[in-house]
Amino acid sequence: AALYEPERANSKGWDITDGPTLRRLEDARAPFKTHTWSAAPIVAAASAPGDPLEVRNPANPDEIVGHVTTAEDTTIEAALAAATPWTADTEARAATLNRVADLYEQSAPELFALLAREAGKTLLDCVGEVREAVDFLRYYATQAAKCTSPGVGTVTCISPWNFPLAIFTGQIAGALAAGCAVLAKPAEQTPLVAHRAVQLMLEAGVPATALQYLPGTGATVGRALTSDPRIAAVAFTGSTPTAQTIRRAMAEHLATGAPLVAETGGINAMIIDSTALLEQAVRDVVASAFQSAGQRCSALRCVYVQDDIAPAFREMLTGAVEALTMGDPWDLATDIGPLIDEVARKNILKHLEDHDAKPLIAAPKTGTFLAPTLIEVPNVSALQREIFGPVLHIATFKADGLDQVISDINSTGYGLTFGLHTRIDSRVQDIVERIHVGNVYVNRNQIGAVVGTQPFGGEGLSGTGPKAGGPSYVARFTKDTDPGAKK
Ligand code: GLU
Repeated sequence: AALYEPERANSKGWDITDGPTLRRLEDARAPFKTHTWSAAPIVAAASAPGDPLEVRNPANPDEIVGHVTTAEDTTIEAALAAATPWTADTEARAATLNRVADLYEQSAPELFALLAREAGKTLLDCVGEVREAVDFLRYYATQAAKCTSPGVGTVTCISPWNFPLAIFTGQIAGALAAGCAVLAKPAEQTPLVAHRAVQLMLEAGVPATALQYLPGTGATVGRALTSDPRIAAVAFTGSTPTAQTIRRAMAEHLATGAPLVAETGGINAMIIDSTALLEQAVRDVVASAFQSAGQRCSALRCVYVQDDIAPAFREMLTGAVEALTMGDPWDLATDIGPLIDEVARKNILKHLEDHDAKPLIAAPKTGTFLAPTLIEVPNVSALQREIFGPVLHIATFKADGLDQVISDINSTGYGLTFGLHTRIDSRVQDIVERIHVGNVYVNRNQIGAVVGTQPFGGEGLSGTGPKAGGPSYVARFTKDTDPGAKK
């Protein structure tokens, strides 16, 4: 027998550097370029009709991608009353989740189109996202078999717009694998791709009472689904302040000890010392800071460069950023798409004004675009909050200043990702031991954690654990878990 046998293989995905594959994908997604989707609550009981809201393309505000009817109080109540844990045996649950994964792969062109037009994602990001969603389904299916006690009950899943399919799916698949009933609230900005995902899950055989879809705002649907005593656990990915609001609501209304699994923000740093391979470091900085327009909680926000290589680093980085193209993410030439909405853009513009910073390249005039920007700072504590976009802060350090850098990074209170570029082996060991973060990446970029092999999640203000895509995630939604101890 092989020394190491993986429990399952991750999705093969789609190699878009291969011409024929790319052309097939382009042909298959073409009909969805002008399609309009329509979403409404999916509950296992009669629900009240509401007024549909428009969902627009962030790259092109004139383009209506679809309509969504949000869940009213009576609909939320109907869903809470109908929610019933999924009592099928673990093998049946695993088989169903695997069928969902197959349906996602078959529906990839439509999902790519939704991700591009609703969430502003480039094709590269769309491919990565559908793969990750599929990986969550298949990985948590393997974990279902390891559950020795039933699910906790009804779980609220509140997901973010930046991975509107992958994280939405991951939370739901984790709770379903455990045998829970799920009430899913997608981010307000991205209800359409989430609606399509729920349709595929139901089509694959997830019972209607085990998965219900309740689009709406945090203030209405989110609040209702985190402050009802019938809720047994909450999975949340989003900002740290929202996680704190949820925890307060849960403390007041839910059973003591009801788990909150929160994945939140980060003020993520990278250290590049003078032994680093500069071309590689620059390439990895560009990916870490600017891919997905910096709208990943894993994204690099502050790079520390050793002073003797800093001038060369700045010059190469500026050149690399100036070569990037911003535009409609549907267009294959686009490297950086829009921010999710105007609220997000204004929030970052304020930060740029405070630092008197200028973007490096031109951004399209319409749509919520913001061009990549570099800001020189003395150290990471100049960032008072998470700046969720294509803004990279640069600090320098001297050879004898490394201890201070590590202490500054740890003192942000966040602890999500960290990158290190060095060719000194002993330094890798030393720094990795002293940095307090969930995910460390050495001599590579610091985004794109892979389900199963790189469980993803942080510590401190960055999250509660257990890590997404890791071996303890599903168990957290069962009754056999040791609360708080799993990572
Ligand atoms: N898992 C993603 C990554 O490793 C980040 C998830 C997020 O932004 O919430 O890049």
